[in-house]
Amino acid sequence: MDLDRVGIELIRDFERLVESNTKSIVLLPHTNPDGDAMGSVLGLWRVLTNAGFVVKIVSPTKYPEFYHWMDGHDEVINFSHHPKQSARAISESDLIICLDFNQIARLGDMKPLIEGYQGKIILVDHHPYPGDFADLVISDVSFSSTAELIFTILQSTRFAQFIDRNAATSFFTGIMTDTGSFDFSVSNPNTFETVAQLTRMGIDQQDIHSKVYDNYSPDRMRLMGFCLSNRMTVYPEYHAACMYISLEDQKAFNFKTGDNEGFVNMPLSIKGIVFSALFTEKSKYIKTSFRSKGEFAVNEVSEKYFNGGGHRNAAGGELYASLSETLAKFENLLPEFADRIKQSVNKQP
Ligand code: 5GP
Ligand code: MN
Repeated sequence: MDLDRVGIELIRDFERLVESNTKSIVLLPHTNPDGDAMGSVLGLWRVLTNAGFVVKIVSPTKYPEFYHWMDGHDEVINFSHHPKQSARAISESDLIICLDFNQIARLGDMKPLIEGYQGKIILVDHHPYPGDFADLVISDVSFSSTAELIFTILQSTRFAQFIDRNAATSFFTGIMTDTGSFDFSVSNPNTFETVAQLTRMGIDQQDIHSKVYDNYSPDRMRLMGFCLSNRMTVYPEYHAACMYISLEDQKAFNFKTGDNEGFVNMPLSIKGIVFSALFTEKSKYIKTSFRSKGEFAVNEVSEKYFNGGGHRNAAGGELYASLSETLAKFENLLPEFADRIKQSVNKQP
């Protein structure tokens, strides 16, 4: 099947490295894991566990509650809460598989643990410019999500027989969330073929969608309304919009991890808007999120001005500045990108 898509040598290398594991395997998502990072990690955890390996999951930080229903959630060791247990899991392993990130800096405070690692490291990811911290890198931007990529790899290995309904559910969650329910980053028909295969494995896609998207608190819905009404600025001349959430706002709406998920996409529903930004104030920095439509590359904006990166149409970063400085910075960069944004607008229907 999809051997051509990933490359038989890489798949055999992946299989060989996993097979040569004699102690245990640690699976790692990035900091503040999203649905794709957790879907990939939990799906792979299920498959390799079914195959008889000892597999542990260490997450640099916690992740949103609307992913806690997933198979394997109880197994996840949160590094920020349990640093010693995490360090032990890593030191007792001889293989780490990193999923859904391209730079070791995306591990945040966990970075030193990986830098000094004695075992082998595999990186499976779909972001551009993978770093060189791994022994085996399987990285391909033509995949909608890391979940689609890892599933495709597994399908071509002897581990395919261990992909059960639970694993398929996790992989589907990754694909669904990274594509905004098949709204963006689905430029390749293979994504739908992958979903067809997952569907044949018995997943209930309506139920998965509902568990992820119909699981919000009243506070989050009210925060969304508040931000749309009071925290959004539209720059029609630049086909751009931005939104912010201050620490005070978060307090007022009992903010929990993930409560701002998807907010950054909303301004793109405004006619003519192809560039959107969300700035969420944290205690030490501003978390930035960018989305675009068409060819305008927001990862370039994020890399140049916000210490970040990501994909062409979805990127993020962290800025050590105040909220007002961040908003001013955003406004000031718009003229520089005006021409490129306009080119994207012209290609919209
Ligand atoms: P989000 O806006 O959902 O947090 O992130 C969108 C995408 O941007 C992620 O999938 C990831 O590729 C990238 N991204 C988010 N935050 C960071 C960051 O701090 N650094 C880098 N390099 N990429 C990020
Ligand atoms: Mn992803």
